[in-house]
Amino acid sequence: MSDALIQLAQALADGSVKVVDLTHTLDPDFPVIILPPEFGQCARFRMEEISAYDHRGPAWKWHNITMSEHTGTHFDAPNHWISGRDVPLNAVDEIPVDMFVGPVVVIDCSAEATEDEDFTMDPDFIRAWEDQHGRIPEDAWVLMRTDWSKRSGAPYLNMREDGAHSPGPSGDGIRFLVEERNIRGFGTETVGTDAGQGMHLSPPYPAHFTLHGAGKYGLQCLSNLDQLPPTGAVLMAAPLKIKNGTGSPLRVLAMVGKDAT
Ligand code: MN
Repeated sequence: MSDALIQLAQALADGSVKVVDLTHTLDPDFPVIILPPEFGQCARFRMEEISAYDHRGPAWKWHNITMSEHTGTHFDAPNHWISGRDVPLNAVDEIPVDMFVGPVVVIDCSAEATEDEDFTMDPDFIRAWEDQHGRIPEDAWVLMRTDWSKRSGAPYLNMREDGAHSPGPSGDGIRFLVEERNIRGFGTETVGTDAGQGMHLSPPYPAHFTLHGAGKYGLQCLSNLDQLPPTGAVLMAAPLKIKNGTGSPLRVLAMVGKDAT
């Protein structure tokens, strides 16, 4: 065993590194994205009892579950978007597993998203964050904190006649992260990696288009981002190994140094 792993195990045991859960509970009431009615729709989580220590199975309890690949806290693979259709290793079962553990930075947009629910994060905002916290390291996850995960029910999707209203990156903002910072992936607290009105940005749905076209990953419906430091945490996000899968619900965890926040 390497010294680094011995030290990590000790730090986890003595509490100087803690594990933070960034995952919402899978629950039939948790909202899923709603597309315009002409498109196919994503299914909510459903759970059906097989037996519960009864005549169907006297000593055991278990459930059948159904959901879409993009239900609840979930991972987006490059093949989720047309721009990533021909990217190598673009399905959840093909992604190299070292991509599932890595450094993470958190850009706090919670004040701006509270002020303006259609807030979009642009390169100037990201550069201002870097002036305070240092340059975003290469191959890191970047999470956009908005405190949106504290909403529940209708205000979470925040649907109006013209669609959803929720924050996300601007087209230039996500291009900056992908092209200038070569991030590994981008995560949000909202139901998608794009802003609710992302179809009106250029290109439409710029986070999906740009990230996946460049072979980068997405995470959405994250929670507890307010428990992470701006830099220095390690993210663990391993999607289910679904053959040719475009995404998957998953448990997202972060390892955080005790005094980091
Ligand atoms: Mn998705």
